[in-house]
This record gives sequence, structure tokens and C-alpha cells, in this order.
Amino acid sequence: MKHNFGPGPCILPQEVFKQASQAVLNFNDTGLSILEISHRTPEFESVVDESVRLVKELLNVPEGYSIIFLQGGASLQFSMVPMNLLPDGKSAAYLDTGVWASKALKEAKIIGNVNVVASSKEANYTFIPKDFEVPADSAYFHTTSNNTIYGTEMYEFPKTSVPLVCDMSSDIFSRVINVADFGLIYAGAQKNIGPAGATLVIVKDELLDKSGRKLPSMLDYKVQVDGGSMYNTPPVFSIYVSMLNLRWLKSKGGVADIEKENIAKARALYEEIDRNPLFKGTCKVEDRSRMNVCFVMENPELEKPFLKFAEDRDIIGIKGHRSVGGFRASMYNALPITSVHTLIDAMQDFAEKHK
Ligand code: PLP
Repeated sequence: MKHNFGPGPCILPQEVFKQASQAVLNFNDTGLSILEISHRTPEFESVVDESVRLVKELLNVPEGYSIIFLQGGASLQFSMVPMNLLPDGKSAAYLDTGVWASKALKEAKIIGNVNVVASSKEANYTFIPKDFEVPADSAYFHTTSNNTIYGTEMYEFPKTSVPLVCDMSSDIFSRVINVADFGLIYAGAQKNIGPAGATLVIVKDELLDKSGRKLPSMLDYKVQVDGGSMYNTPPVFSIYVSMLNLRWLKSKGGVADIEKENIAKARALYEEIDRNPLFKGTCKVEDRSRMNVCFVMENPELEKPFLKFAEDRDIIGIKGHRSVGGFRASMYNALPITSVHTLIDAMQDFAEKHK
């Protein structure tokens, strides 16, 4: 068995991959592949309906929100959010906590006025800024709940009177959130939801149609909500596998239960990083991500040998992103705690050899 600590795309449980591969050959005994069945059939419409229902149930989405699956990844949301929510003459507030946050604000600047309320860029994004104010006349406040590359996570969201927008691409469904605190949540599917190709958007209905801007239909949330995620041909396979994966999550007890597991996985690995003299974490302790654990070695010359040592034990995907170096162990919902223990054992055995 491979222990896949890779950051994506699409880390799902084996059983979900099995069901998905079966549906490629014969979807629900229709004799047709999920890839060829018309998306306008009741069979596929029920896939979209169930996916939406599962999102609603698992995240406890209150009334007054719409749930849609779009294409273009989280990156297209960097543009769609300001196009739809930022009227001319107003300003949007952004918190700069990493490369994805800074890409989001770069795209927003193309559409309108952006006010970066705080940034941890100078510290290579090793912490989440907490000392800032969001101007009360902002059209919205944009945050990134988990900074996939740097390994920081926001555990508290500021109370603000303006709509809170959050890119939750890499930690949605990993922990309990209060959707009612947010005006809009978006997430590329490819971490805890399903295969790349679909993007989940949860938007408060009262924010629809508010920018006063004439938008191309595909980029207009209102058009997409009215079309029930089927304004055009939806990413059928990605939505179908997302549905299977959300069923799996429900069968595991839902988000609160998986959160407990994610806390246990992260705690075990961070404890080892802090205990083992060869390794050290890269982020401020209180902001450490449970999804992406970034760490380096005290002696950088040992990093390549450790990578090889780990690979020989079927531990893959732990090489750090080039902007941080060292290692990044991504621990999405599908990664079993046994894999985390395998990594910890490898760190201990390696340290034993390099005393
Ligand atoms: N936002 C976050 C937090 C991410 O981790 C990523 C990709 O990993 C993105 C945005 C970009 O997502 P996409 O490739 O779906 O555009």
C-alpha cells in the first residue's frame, strides 16, 4: 500500500475509486457509462440533487443559501467573486495569507478596488495575521481558510459586518464550519471533495445579482444558480465521484467525526516534528494547518536522503513546495492515521540512524 501524502489532485478513499471505476463501465445498471449518459436524464439529475443534498447535510447549510457546482477551478472564483460581488466605486478587503490569497487579490484588482488589510508575505506566509480591521464599507472580506503551500490554517474568522468570502479549497469538509458566518464559500473539488473539474460554490442568495454589472452568463452566479449547476454541460464525472465521496464521508459519521480524526493525525505528526531533533516545523504553532504539515530538517543535507528513506517505505508525495522547501505532508480526509504512523516511524528510524 502506498502512503500518499501528496497535495492532490484528488486524494480519495480506495472504495470510492472502486465505485467510480465501476460506474465508468456501467452506471447504476443502466448499461451505460457515467461518462456517456446524458446529463439531462433523471438518473444524472439525481446525482446532482444528491450531491447538493449531501453538501447541505454535511455542512449544515442553512436556508437562504444556494449550492452550485461550476468549472474553472478555484482560480476562476478569484475572478467571479469580484465580478459578482464588487460594485464599481466600492472596495473589497483581502487578507493575504499565501500564494492563493495573493492570486485571488491580483484577479480582484483587475475588476475593482482592493484593500489588503494585512499580509504575512514578509515572513514567507508562516503565520495568519490577526491584527487588522476590515473597513465597514467594504463590499466583502476575502480570506483563505487553509494555505495549502505554506501549511497555515485559519481557526477563527473575524467578526465583521461585511459579507465574509472564503476560499476553502484545501480544508472544506475537514472540520466543522458555521456556514451562516459566510456570504460565499468556494472550493476546487480536488482535495476533500472529488476529482478536479468541479468547483463547489455555496452562496447566500441575498448576494446574488448585486454588482450591477452586466456579466457573461457563464460567469454570473445568478445564471448558474437558476440553471441548477446545469446551465451548460456540467463536469459529470467530477460531480458523480464527489457524490460518492460525500456518501463515504457521511458513512464515516460526517464532518465532526472526520475532524476528530484529522486533529489526531495532525497532533501525532506535529508532536513528532517537535520531539525529533532532526526536524522542525516552519509555521507559527497556533496557525499550523491540519491538512498540510510543512517541516524542514535542521541539517538540509539530510533532506534528500530522508526523502529516499521514506520512499523506500512507500511514503510518497512529501516533498515540500519550492516556496518553502523541505517537506509537506498533506493529510486530507482520505489519508488513514496508519499512514501518519508509518511516516512517524520512518522519522524515528531515520533519526536513530543519524544520531
Ligand atoms: N486555493 C487554494 C487554497 C488551493 O490550494 C488551490 C490549489 O491547490 C487553489 C486555490 C487553486 O485551485 P484550482 O487549481 O482549482 O484553480
